[in-house]
Amino acid sequence: MSEFIITEDFPDNQQEFDERFSEEQACYDYLFRMRWPQGFHCPRCGHTGYWMSSKGLCICCRCEYHQSITAGTILHSTKKPLRAWFKAMWWFTTRKSGVNAVNLKDLLGLGSYNTAWRWLQKLRSCTIRKGREKLSGHVEVDEFYLGGERSGKRGRGAEHKCVVAVAVERKGRKLGRLRLQIIDTCSASDLIPFIQANIAPGSSIHTDGWGGYNGLATMGYTHKPMLQTKTEDKNSVLPGVHLVTSLIKRLILGTFQGRFEEKYLTRYLDEYVFRFNRRTTKSVGKRFWRFVQQLAASKPITNIQVATAVISPLLAN
Ligand SMILES: [Zn+2]
Repeated sequence: MSEFIITEDFPDNQQEFDERFSEEQACYDYLFRMRWPQGFHCPRCGHTGYWMSSKGLCICCRCEYHQSITAGTILHSTKKPLRAWFKAMWWFTTRKSGVNAVNLKDLLGLGSYNTAWRWLQKLRSCTIRKGREKLSGHVEVDEFYLGGERSGKRGRGAEHKCVVAVAVERKGRKLGRLRLQIIDTCSASDLIPFIQANIAPGSSIHTDGWGGYNGLATMGYTHKPMLQTKTEDKNSVLPGVHLVTSLIKRLILGTFQGRFEEKYLTRYLDEYVFRFNRRTTKSVGKRFWRFVQQLAASKPITNIQVATAVISPLLAN
């Protein structure tokens, strides 16, 4: 199906948000348009005719399938009003550093810290847009370790660590878009697929001299290995990834205090990329609008256990 162009429609500020989404019906209508921008169609038989039950279910006129607006998304079988989720999404997308579980619990009057923490896990799972454009132009690529105690050499001694691949666009002295991904090892068999999945052919890729990047020139990229001299540090050779890496390490290690589970780390990294790539978006409402679109197209996530490593109120986010 070809991409359907949806008219931009969002509140510009907190006051407009509060006025517009104070009633459940307004949230329902907004989510409905995001979920079915071309109008409702039955997930079972594809029919477009439906009627609405008193409980807000869309009932297919042909096969009588009952479809809830939240079924099959991260809001699957939520008992909370959409109003509360809309508030959570507004805060999550419009606050510069997001919202943490302690704040969210207080803001929404949720029963427990764990509930708020699960809500955030669900929201984080919607931060990556499917089919997003690949990075292009001048792109710096590197990897870094998180966790573990030993400093270990690259590709060796990396037990108990997560390896994170990082790619960031350089636009003159400024940074463009960012990509992060946990990979198994620093070898070419993990680095090259990361690059191919995230960077458009024709781009100029700047790396250090690590052998795991050999071969990029034969894959449609211009490869520029930046060889460090003894007197240079990585900061001067690859300043973009160096900056991003140190920011992430500070944030993540402060948050997890050095202990984390990979699946939670992935979601934090995704949230980080989400904020980083929208840091210059002038309209906060537009971020919210985009996010509701992504949520409407999301899949349910289950088995969210509150990780013991993240319960400390210190970290909260
Ligand atoms: Zn049907």
